[in-house]
Amino acid sequence: MTDKRVAIVTGGSRGIGAAIVRRLADDKMHVVAIARNLEKLNQVCSEITSAGGTAEALVCDIADFKALAAAVEGVAERLGRIDVLVNNAGIAKDGLILRMDDEDFDTVIATNLKAAFVTIRAAARPMVRAKGGRIINISSVSGVAGNAGQANYSASKAGMIGLSKSVAKELAGKNITCNVVAPGFITTDMTDVLNDQIKEGVKNFIPLKRFGTPQEVASVVSFLAGNDANYVTGQVICVDGGMVM
Ligand code: NAP
Repeated sequence: MTDKRVAIVTGGSRGIGAAIVRRLADDKMHVVAIARNLEKLNQVCSEITSAGGTAEALVCDIADFKALAAAVEGVAERLGRIDVLVNNAGIAKDGLILRMDDEDFDTVIATNLKAAFVTIRAAARPMVRAKGGRIINISSVSGVAGNAGQANYSASKAGMIGLSKSVAKELAGKNITCNVVAPGFITTDMTDVLNDQIKEGVKNFIPLKRFGTPQEVASVVSFLAGNDANYVTGQVICVDGGMVM
């Protein structure tokens, strides 16, 4: 049990997720960071504890839906509350539609979309009991506008938007908000795979002419998780340097 607000962040071991874990811990929440790599999770969590915050690592493959539901339910039982849920973990398996096989489509939909449904269903119960909660789903500008070579990824991220808007309508009466953050190009392992020529080309399409940082995404998540966003629900906020206007 804890008196602090409790936040669950999937994909909290690195990149955008690690920045969100650090930011919500700075916001005085107890953060449960979920990912597969315990060592990386522990690095993030021990940094936070050394700085006086509280965070804990929870190892789970979010594509194992039974384990994922049990992990979320376990947090609610052990800590007595879930105030904030951030569905951030995601993968890409890019390819042109003519060459994309079923497995690459299904894996991306399962990890990016179905896992979010599973966590929301599990976290909604304690949030309904508590008469309040914040659900924040990390989509992508690819889900808003589509992207060649990312039919599976874009479908999963567009699906998250539909999921979020429906959940926002369904749970608004229980004082639970559900919003989407849609990043553009952010400097993380996911975009490090692009070669320098592609990165320079991409910058030409970004009005602010640079990639974003994980912290710039985390600050919008912090806003949506805090009291300043009490009256905001069902929204998609692009954090993309102006790519999608
Ligand atoms: P990243 O650096 O590749 O990190 C992905 C995170 O997800 C890691 O913590 C990873 O941890 C976790 N993860 C992946 N598969 C998992 C699984 N099956 N079970 C549990 N955890 C899993 O990605 P990122 O760039 O920070 O992206 C974070 C989110 O933002 C993703 O949803 C991504 O689609 C979205 N996004 C990113 C960008 C961008 O430019 N970077 C743009 C738009 C949207 P483990 O490997 O330890 O499990």
